[in-house]
Amino acid sequence: MTTTTTTATTTTAGRTPTTEEELAGQTVELLQALIRNACVNDGTVGSGQEVRNAETIADFLDGAGLDLERVEPQPGRTSLVTRVHGTAPDAPSLGLVGHTDVVPVEPDGWSRDPFGAELVDGWVWGRGAIDMLGLTAAYAVVTRALATSGRPPRGDLLLAAVADEEHGSVWGVDWLTTHRWDLVQADHVLTESGGVPVGPLGARTLAVGEKGGAGRLLRVHGRPGHGSGPWGGRNAIVIAAEVVRRIAAARGPVVVGDLWRRYVDALAPEPDLRAALLDPERLDDALPRLGALGAVAHATTHTTLAPTVIGAGSKPNVIPGLAEITLDIRVLPGTRPGDVEALLTETLGDLTEHVDIVGDRFGEPSLSPTDTDLYRVIERTVTARTGGAPVVPTLGTGGTDGRFYRRRGVPAYGFGLLSAGWDPGTWRGLFHGNDERVDVASLELTTAALHDVVTTFLR
Ligand SMILES: [Zn+2]
Repeated sequence: MTTTTTTATTTTAGRTPTTEEELAGQTVELLQALIRNACVNDGTVGSGQEVRNAETIADFLDGAGLDLERVEPQPGRTSLVTRVHGTAPDAPSLGLVGHTDVVPVEPDGWSRDPFGAELVDGWVWGRGAIDMLGLTAAYAVVTRALATSGRPPRGDLLLAAVADEEHGSVWGVDWLTTHRWDLVQADHVLTESGGVPVGPLGARTLAVGEKGGAGRLLRVHGRPGHGSGPWGGRNAIVIAAEVVRRIAAARGPVVVGDLWRRYVDALAPEPDLRAALLDPERLDDALPRLGALGAVAHATTHTTLAPTVIGAGSKPNVIPGLAEITLDIRVLPGTRPGDVEALLTETLGDLTEHVDIVGDRFGEPSLSPTDTDLYRVIERTVTARTGGAPVVPTLGTGGTDGRFYRRRGVPAYGFGLLSAGWDPGTWRGLFHGNDERVDVASLELTTAALHDVVTTFLR
């Protein structure tokens, strides 16, 4: 691990932009540069190489008079951290935590170069456009604007451009909050996953919590034998197939919580559908009526079980005695570790005797309060910037860096502000998907709204 500090020197070249248009232009340009660096995190420790995006952001901040600290727990896995110091030691601080890595692409599925960052008809194309390089760029732009405004904030503004979010944040925020809390601490935090229009009023989502992860490995035992005589045998593949079928068919308990209720309010469906969506007995049957939103509705109200990796067998003429199934399991707030084993045992039924459930990982689900000053500032800003859209607090169904702050008692919200043409189905489809892209209008809205939130909250 190495840590280096540099001070960005003040230059006359970087005139402080004053207009929203100029700030938005900076966000677009910085986003394009971040996409082109292609900091692809494939889960191996040598991938990502976020040092390139850290240096691009450092170059952008050059001249703003900020102390820049680079933290590199593994070679090339660099996070860049800086702080605009406030004038009032007691004033609450705000952290902007943006990851700089992206997930891999399947190039054949793309209509444009995934790392070309082309700007076409008002859209920036490329891996990371929405997850989350556009937002990370806006964080850097607003940090620079505040640092060079000549009006220091009362509370500190922290900017953390972090590595490795796409593989559990092991070399990013998990590491930073564990080993360098002095550097990355903040009283409130904004990160990704928000601002998506929902329902007829275009209510904008703000992720206030997220599910926990409790993945397991199922080891399915059969009996090996000769491939020429399958009858009466116990082929581990055949047993595993039934295990997978039961997992796919499992419905599990339905939990209609406060956040789901508020989401349904924002969707404002017709009365019969509304009643079904709020009734644990009828919810599952109503999911197809939600179209692309069905998966969101399901994940928000269930602990989900998804087989993601399967392996068995080694030779064409040998019936395998062992099969392994990896399960991605995401648990709702309120779930206890023992509930995961209970749900699996119930789902497997009489097959339990052939299956070992391996692993005990339990990432706590996390939830931030909504009765904070920051939440209210965001509400007012979003409503003002959209001509009246309310904010709907949501439960994130995947993971973000917000959880590492929440587990230290720091309220963390998934922020962003997309233009009115977006909907949750399209947004979800582009996340980690083909043809990921973002419209310049959303980058403008996000930059302007973030600037409002930061200056209002810190002054
Ligand atoms: Zn992300």
